[in-house]
Amino acid sequence: MSKILITGGAGFIGSNLTEHFLKAGHNVVVLDNFATGHLHNIQQHLENSNFTLIEGDIRNVEDCKQAVEGVDYVLHQAALGSVPRSIKDPQTSNEVNVTGFLNMLVAARDAGVKRFVYAASSSTYGDSESLPKVEDVIGKPLSPYAITKYVNELYADIFSKTYGLETIGLRYFNVFGRRQDPNGAYAAVIPLFVKQFLNHESPVINGAGDYSRDFTYIDNVIQMNALAITTTNPDAVNTVYNTAVGDRTTLNELVGYLKEFLSEYDAEIANVEIIHGPNRQGDIPHSLASIAKAERLLGYKPTHVIREGLKEAVKWYKENL
Ligand code: NAD
Repeated sequence: MSKILITGGAGFIGSNLTEHFLKAGHNVVVLDNFATGHLHNIQQHLENSNFTLIEGDIRNVEDCKQAVEGVDYVLHQAALGSVPRSIKDPQTSNEVNVTGFLNMLVAARDAGVKRFVYAASSSTYGDSESLPKVEDVIGKPLSPYAITKYVNELYADIFSKTYGLETIGLRYFNVFGRRQDPNGAYAAVIPLFVKQFLNHESPVINGAGDYSRDFTYIDNVIQMNALAITTTNPDAVNTVYNTAVGDRTTLNELVGYLKEFLSEYDAEIANVEIIHGPNRQGDIPHSLASIAKAERLLGYKPTHVIREGLKEAVKWYKENL
């Protein structure tokens, strides 16, 4: 049994990691300030003696120090996501995603944690047009958010080299699944579209719908985090990995799948019209990961392709929205 700190554990990905590692018998500490996360995501663990909630902020050094006490592994998820949010308010994104990240690295180093695994991002590929994306070929960042996530990788690398802190960065590609928030100005496309379909409202696709993404179901992300913690391969640490499926789906295909699965619950949804708006500034046309590095060094094998993941996610939203 290990003690695992999950920052951002009240959020979408963090709460799924929390649930997984508690079920696996570990001791889990969550540090979250509820900026975008929710208590209801972790409510069911509050009575569990293996679970500790610290309501605090990664921008506060003392909160970080308290959270890492006696911790074996850190799974650092806390950040302000969303490219548009970072364009609107780059300073707050930087404070949380860069200063907060650095605070957590320092706290983890000083507490002697065994490994620091963190949420990196496919946005680090920036304007690089090469497909599939391989970890060591990146372009220029296209947003303040992308800069923050790239800076995380640079700091993690320096902490590995300078202080011997083991780090692993997981570049998540468009993650989706249970508990991803459909509400708010910066909601991700899948939960937003599901909510709109369930309300018989027309989703708006930015552009013609031919842009594509490597949509990644949450269970694949959980697997990558578990492998990042447990790997004993010395070549597998102090580096970054694409965390994806290795397949891409266009927005038009995505909407088609959602209609197909949601119509099983409500036949009317098949008739909901789709609206096309202008392309969004800074969006790259296509994103597709090579997962060869994770397969080779971590033994990663995705369990869910997009349709399988969407089917499960849609069922969850139908029961929980
Ligand atoms: P989320 O917004 O659901 O979760 C983020 C969590 O961090 C929330 O619970 C929030 O309250 C918490 N948080 C924010 N600021 C904080 C602060 N100052 N102190 C403490 N806690 C704070 O988002 P998510 O989709 O679960 O993303 C988790 C991580 O994965 C983030 O680092 C994000 O950048 C990264 N990521 C996500 C995706 C994706 O597709 N969801 C893709 C690439 C990278």
